[in-house]
Amino acid sequence: MTAPASPTSPTSLASPEGDATSDRVTGVRLRAVHLPLTTPVSDAKVLTGRQRAMTEVAFLFAEVRTARGHEGLGFSYSKRAGGPAQFTHACEVAPELLGEDPSDIAKIWTKLVWASASVGRSGLSTQAIAAIDIALWDLKAKRAGLPLAKLLGAHRDSVRCYNTSGGFLHTPVEQVLDNADASLARGVGGIKIKVGHPDHAVDLRRLSAVREHLGAGVPLMVDANQQWDRPAARRMGRAMEEFRLEWIEEPLDAYDVRGHAALTAALDTPIASGEMLVSVAEHWEMIKHDAVDIIQPDAPRVGGITQFLKLATLADHQHLQLAPHFAMEIHLHLAAAYPREPWVEHFDWLEPLFNERLETRDGRMYVPDRPGLGFTLSEQARAWTRETAGFGTF
Ligand SMILES: [Mg+2]
Repeated sequence: MTAPASPTSPTSLASPEGDATSDRVTGVRLRAVHLPLTTPVSDAKVLTGRQRAMTEVAFLFAEVRTARGHEGLGFSYSKRAGGPAQFTHACEVAPELLGEDPSDIAKIWTKLVWASASVGRSGLSTQAIAAIDIALWDLKAKRAGLPLAKLLGAHRDSVRCYNTSGGFLHTPVEQVLDNADASLARGVGGIKIKVGHPDHAVDLRRLSAVREHLGAGVPLMVDANQQWDRPAARRMGRAMEEFRLEWIEEPLDAYDVRGHAALTAALDTPIASGEMLVSVAEHWEMIKHDAVDIIQPDAPRVGGITQFLKLATLADHQHLQLAPHFAMEIHLHLAAAYPREPWVEHFDWLEPLFNERLETRDGRMYVPDRPGLGFTLSEQARAWTRETAGFGTF
């Protein structure tokens, strides 16, 4: 005779065997995709002679597949140098993924970082790992049947959005105005233009023309791409107060924490920075010193979504606003899950890489109702693929 199981017996508490509890990574495919830009792009770094105009963006895509047939897609990227090295590094660490439970994303991130320990815990090595990390988050959300924002816990189903791609320094101001009109007509809410021209008067003339064209009601931002020194940033910051800007982005060198803190304290206009930082540790320096009002992390650059979530928690704890950099396809979800009302950056450059489009309306970008990040690679992305590598079975 068998005694009935008590309600608290191990048997009754055991998890049912299922997709979420017993899966394994069986295949990883990596893809190096080079996205050409229709026009060479210049920001202030080109006008000061530090960089050449940008003609393409190098993407590292990671596709992960499991024994139970689940799939995830993630990507990282590099502008100018670094793309081939990211791909090569990802090829070296990808075999470490095989046999791992795809649910244990932080454990896998740590394992891949230890495999890369000799080349450090930030920068190029963790940017390669980021593509895999993002694919695992996409997979987890897809398996749950939820958009990633919902898996994380969303505070909103849409995020304020602004356009950047129409306001570069190579673009004549008349074209900048036309681009701004086109963005607003698409439902994008704010307009950002590049500044940092060696002749400050040129910046102020362009900014004045844009503000006059848009009127006072449209949120307007500027981005100096690190090309001012401290005195120039103070002078330009004061000169631009009258334009009621939403923020001044990267007024100083990305690593000048004290300079940013002093500027943030001195100006009424909010200061934003963080896109060039490549780890949680680097962001923590900015966050803990109150160096900015608005932090601008980039998930692929800081090592993926796992790392982004850590620094977002730190930033929220310090009462900072959030405006993630680039890659709206990823950052829309992460911004939707941030407690304070954030911004997301509208860049149409990446649209040809995917079969799906994001909806923008009434100044906001809407979280797609598709599971995961909500994107599949387009035929065009496959055509722009220069290299692939597969591990395990796919
Ligand atoms: Mg920027």
